[in-house]
Amino acid sequence: MEQTLSIIKPDAVAKNVIGKILTRFEDAGLRIAVTKKIQLSREDAKAFYAVHKDRPFFNDLVEFMISGPVVVSVLEGDNAVAKNRELMGATNPKDAQKGTIRADFAESIDANAVHGSDSLENAKIEIEFFFAQREIV
Ligand code: GDP
Repeated sequence: MEQTLSIIKPDAVAKNVIGKILTRFEDAGLRIAVTKKIQLSREDAKAFYAVHKDRPFFNDLVEFMISGPVVVSVLEGDNAVAKNRELMGATNPKDAQKGTIRADFAESIDANAVHGSDSLENAKIEIEFFFAQREIV
């Protein structure tokens, strides 16, 4: 059993498709251990994406992530990390396979609907970034 972190980004929250996206996770056999809608501060977004701080798109990414509320969730299940990445589709929605969340709900490489941890190790770090252990049931 694995846990992974999912973020429904501001573009998808603004489109009112939170439920549709969470349903994709459940339909694929993942369980929602905890979920919450929050507004990230600039400091939160910079810290969360610190790994990308030297990339040319870092400022745009931070500004986009604070442009509206996001929904952060812990998803749980067999191969949760890989399963979530598969459901999300490629980073650029233009390259995302048909039927993936990004193909169906995303507009562009920055407004790309969802984030998902890319490894079990990062999943642990990202879950701890947003949730106290006692919140996860
Ligand atoms: P992910 O794991 O599929 O989300 O992709 P990455 O970890 O490589 O990048 C993190 C986020 O940065 C992506 O989801 C995009 O929102 C954004 N991003 C990545 N590459 C680019 C780029 O070339 N241009 C812009 N504007 N944003 C990018």
